[in-house]
Amino acid sequence: MVTHTHNTVTRMNLIRKALGFGAGVLDVAFPPSCVSCGDMVDGTALPHVCDRCFAKIHIVEDPRCLTCGYPFFGAVESHGDCQHCSRLRPRFSRGWSISLFRGSVRDLVYALKYENALWALDDLAKIAEYAEGLVDYLEDAILVPVPLHARKLRERGYNQSELVAREIGKRFNCATSTCLLDRTVDTPSQTQFNRKDRYRNLRNAFSISPKGTIEPLQRYILVDDVFTTGSTLNACASVLRKAGAKRVDVLTIGHG
Ligand SMILES: [Zn+2]
Ligand SMILES: [Zn+2]
Repeated sequence: MVTHTHNTVTRMNLIRKALGFGAGVLDVAFPPSCVSCGDMVDGTALPHVCDRCFAKIHIVEDPRCLTCGYPFFGAVESHGDCQHCSRLRPRFSRGWSISLFRGSVRDLVYALKYENALWALDDLAKIAEYAEGLVDYLEDAILVPVPLHARKLRERGYNQSELVAREIGKRFNCATSTCLLDRTVDTPSQTQFNRKDRYRNLRNAFSISPKGTIEPLQRYILVDDVFTTGSTLNACASVLRKAGAKRVDVLTIGHG
């Protein structure tokens, strides 16, 4: 289903590119199809997700884990970490996941990441706008996207986390800094590794960029598309902390 839908969406995207129209012009002429089910988008909640698929998006609300943002379903746990974070030993103070990484959120992120679907940014930033309290969480922070290695950046043409951070920054009125962190080691994909190996892989993968200056009292929020084990974000937080940052938090679009 996802493949078919993505093909449809990719085709639409190619038509847009070929005709040289901005998304806005073409959306009026041909209403976009839903990134998840391929139906025509029939509502106003999101530009590329139909209302039925939008209704299935789980935007995280309280009570939630303060370290990764995962919701505490059902019984309210007193405080502390959820099962995902109990062994993480986070180097950041707080984490916020806007939604659960499934359904349309996952489809939008994958389209952005693997299919050059820059139009998905508008949907993702709008999903962020539905997250109650996020505006307060982001207040006075500088957003720091998790960097891509130069090789991957060349391959993909852009860093999706940077685009997401910029789009959210624009709407929530906070600055984005892309000159603080570098990814100096081209780490293999993390998916096949266990927690310990992920940590080992990532330990030296990031560094403060030569032009980067850390203001110790400035609050930095690391931004990534998905919180899976938190290892990548933790490695970045560790580098910022070692360079003197005292206030480091985390924001992700989805919790995996
Ligand atoms: Zn749909
Ligand atoms: Zn957690």
